[in-house]
Amino acid sequence: MNYDRTPFETDKPGEECGVFGAYDFDGHDISSSIYYGLFALQHRGQESCGIAVSDTEGPKGKVDYYKDMGLVNEVFDEERLNRLHGNIGVGHVRYSTAGASNRENAQPLIIHYIKGTLAVAHNGNLTNAVDLREKLKYSGAIFQTTIDSETIAYYIARERVQTKNVQEAVSRTMDKIEGAYALAVMSPRKLIGARDPYGFKPLCIGKRDNTYFLSSETCALDAVGAEFVRDVEPGEIVTITPNGILSDKSHCLPAEKQGRCIFEYIYFARPDSRIDGINVYSARLLAGRFLAKDSSVDADIVVGVPESGNAAAQGYAMESGIPYGTAFVKNNYVGRTFIKPKQSSRESSVRVKLNVLREVVKDKRVILIDDSIVRGTTSDQIVNMLKDAGAKEVHMRISSPPFLWPCYFGIDVPERHQLIAYNHTVDEICKEIGADTLGYLRLERLPEMVNGLGICTGCFTGNYPIPAPKDDIRGEYEA
Ligand code: SF4
Repeated sequence: MNYDRTPFETDKPGEECGVFGAYDFDGHDISSSIYYGLFALQHRGQESCGIAVSDTEGPKGKVDYYKDMGLVNEVFDEERLNRLHGNIGVGHVRYSTAGASNRENAQPLIIHYIKGTLAVAHNGNLTNAVDLREKLKYSGAIFQTTIDSETIAYYIARERVQTKNVQEAVSRTMDKIEGAYALAVMSPRKLIGARDPYGFKPLCIGKRDNTYFLSSETCALDAVGAEFVRDVEPGEIVTITPNGILSDKSHCLPAEKQGRCIFEYIYFARPDSRIDGINVYSARLLAGRFLAKDSSVDADIVVGVPESGNAAAQGYAMESGIPYGTAFVKNNYVGRTFIKPKQSSRESSVRVKLNVLREVVKDKRVILIDDSIVRGTTSDQIVNMLKDAGAKEVHMRISSPPFLWPCYFGIDVPERHQLIAYNHTVDEICKEIGADTLGYLRLERLPEMVNGLGICTGCFTGNYPIPAPKDDIRGEYEA
């Protein structure tokens, strides 16, 4: 399977970031493991990436790092990896929202300070970054980047001067920062992972022989041959040292207050990942089953829009007894540098990427499953392609509720007025995309999809686990 998110998949919420960390207690170089980990997390961010490593037996301030714009396999080659020496390290893949997609904002962020060096990799968005940054500026801080992750790094470094150890500095930083974050922090002798109290972003721990890992998703642990140890709990700080894993749960909230981003399960995460005990593929399968129960229609075949619609389509087929089929062949070689066809030309980005298997859909009543409709700019083309290929009817089913509100927690969602469900009824959207019928997943089904875990449903309801910031901070300071 291919999980690239190519530039013309413009009708999806924008991806976020991925973090990965490793600590080899036997002292071997760890950069190649971080490389493979990041490679498995590439779907979480394709604009820039970086790796920072250090030697826990070496001089305290020495960090080897490299970061740049591009995919993991474009930025790193064997020679570059061989120049990164150290048995502890963190890595990052990044997607940026509007504006500052440049090299200086690539992560991990490296900070040299009185206690040595910190490297910070962050996934998420702080909702009070603007305020915190102003405060820091007034106290003399000079910022090198326009990302909110730098605020986190500054606070950790600042607090570390006053605290016994770095994990306490992370804890005090968590007292100040608000919003969504999963962090992998490398101090000279410790690897630290932390997750915001709501658990918006995933983070887990893995182990291979004498090496421990932190990763945004379990698929990256599999890629490096590590066993899954456990998830970092929402609000937990884990400190990985040769003497064991220390855990600080002083920021944890009761389960009912937690707010994992449900879009991780619907679309962002890889289907082979498990987040907080729930396999992403199984959650998508269940969403499809719910659609079949709540929004059934007579048809001859169920198909998914690749890739993230496929699992829900399989679930729909299982529940309804209508055969599952593959209607689309995807061109896997469309990369970031793909030149988008001009609007006026007959070529279409969607058609370049997806082609229909006519023989599968001709003269059939087709149920088409996709994970979301954001602006509604590609669904009409996909429906048209099926009809052009001879489908008698196209019934569209969406494995999430209508997208109505922005996200402030690190997901790139267009302005409200650009969301098709904001100013159209379901019937109007159905007409606009040219489908025969249209059905969305019911809101009440979301917690069931993840076995009752505490989730954020803000983009469907406008009710966020933490109050939305007064000013629109999206695009101001980024993750
Ligand atoms: S508002 Fe939506 S996209 Fe943003 S964190 Fe909540 S569920 Fe995820």
